[in-house]
Amino acid sequence: MNNQQLYAYRNENSFYKRTCDSCKKSVISIFHPASPHTVYCNECWWSDKWDPLSYGRDFDFTRPFFEQFAELLRKAPLVSLVIGDSENSDYTNYAMWNKNCYMVSSSDYNQDSLYSSYIFRCKDCSDCIFVSDSELVYESIDSKRCYSSAFLQNCSSCTDSLFCYDCRNCEKCIGCVDFRNKNLQIFNQPCTQEQFDEFRRKIVNHTAEFLHEFNNFKIKFPHKFAEIDNCVNSYGDNLIRSKNCQNCFDMVESQDCENCTLGIKARNCTDSIGVPDSELCHQVVGCPGNYDIKSSVLIWPKSSFLEYCLFCRTSNNCFGCVSLHKNQYCILNKQYSKENYEVMKNRIIEYMKNTGEYGRFFPIAISPFAYNETIAQDYFPLKKEAAISLGYGWADPDNRAEMVAGLPICTNCGKNYRLISQELALYEKIDFPVPQMCPECRRKRRMSARNPRALWDRNCMKCGVDIKSSFGPNRPEIVCCEKCHLDAVSG
Ligand SMILES: [Zn+2]
Ligand SMILES: [Zn+2]
Ligand SMILES: [Zn+2]
Repeated sequence: MNNQQLYAYRNENSFYKRTCDSCKKSVISIFHPASPHTVYCNECWWSDKWDPLSYGRDFDFTRPFFEQFAELLRKAPLVSLVIGDSENSDYTNYAMWNKNCYMVSSSDYNQDSLYSSYIFRCKDCSDCIFVSDSELVYESIDSKRCYSSAFLQNCSSCTDSLFCYDCRNCEKCIGCVDFRNKNLQIFNQPCTQEQFDEFRRKIVNHTAEFLHEFNNFKIKFPHKFAEIDNCVNSYGDNLIRSKNCQNCFDMVESQDCENCTLGIKARNCTDSIGVPDSELCHQVVGCPGNYDIKSSVLIWPKSSFLEYCLFCRTSNNCFGCVSLHKNQYCILNKQYSKENYEVMKNRIIEYMKNTGEYGRFFPIAISPFAYNETIAQDYFPLKKEAAISLGYGWADPDNRAEMVAGLPICTNCGKNYRLISQELALYEKIDFPVPQMCPECRRKRRMSARNPRALWDRNCMKCGVDIKSSFGPNRPEIVCCEKCHLDAVSG
């Protein structure tokens, strides 16, 4: 299977205001106010004033499983936002241990950071994806341990640098590629401090134009086929210290995984996204710290032997359940004895084999999220009409569509966008003007700057050796193997 179905179950960045269906407070939520689901605020959802088993029902052997699951999914309360242990960080999702963060998703341990995804241990960062251990970094991608820099990609340990690609340990570099341990350079040529300052002043007011110019410069350099660092018998892209990982992306210290994305210390997982510290998971979306989970969505840590479950917490041996909390031996949120559970589960599996449902992931049409709210729209974009004709949900644009006098207008999509004071303070700190594009268009630009999560069999364009590259064959870059790239890097 491809990842489209899994991605359609992960809304990372679409936030709304809606009412908690329990306490009636207005809350920030990843569920659209018009969504038919029951949505509780975090406080209500995690409290014991309601019982997930009260939504239990018998399995009906005359109707499809997914149809029955969809009915339960509409009734059992879902949580408004997936957050924990954060401070003053209302607009964050799939995020833990953050402080003073705004519009940050899939990110942990950050402070004073904005408009970012997949950032870890960052401070005063904005508009970043896959950035870690950095401070005062803006508009950067796949970079770590950087300071006071902007528009970096695949860089590490760089300071006071702008528009650099694949540079390490550089300081005061602008528009440089493949550099190691350099200082005061513009377009890979030495410059004086005065020239650097003057050039910086010039380009920060024309970032979109300069980005275009830099991309034209960058393309002349040989590009590494994929980012694979200290791995054994593994292929994919953005893999670090992993072993026996096949067709995996954005994984760290993982082992024996296949077709997986986003995982740290994952073991024996297949066809999944978001499997940090998990083992033996198959076809799951967002499943940290768990053991033996199949075909499930968002399972909190310390769960095991779940199948076709969604939004469950610390539960074991359950099938087709929603929003459980410390339960076991349940089917469609109904309690069984251990013995009856096994008998019933096996009967349902046999039945689902006959209906052709068993082994398949949940259909996109019953996702609690609209297609265009999820990361499926990033990787497998669809037009509204196409999505609706396939039976997928579609969320109409949020209130950004309303034109408000006095607010800036995005140069890309023509919509209004807001600037918050925390953001303005950060631009001042990093000495950058206010961006001309709205946050969503900026996010899309960063997403498209990363290679797709796909591989092509190609040959190194220098030595001819076989490579599996995330650069497709029609791309204009010179793509080469690790060794040829190393030969080409100056340092
Ligand atoms: Zn509530
Ligand atoms: Zn825009
Ligand atoms: Zn080569």
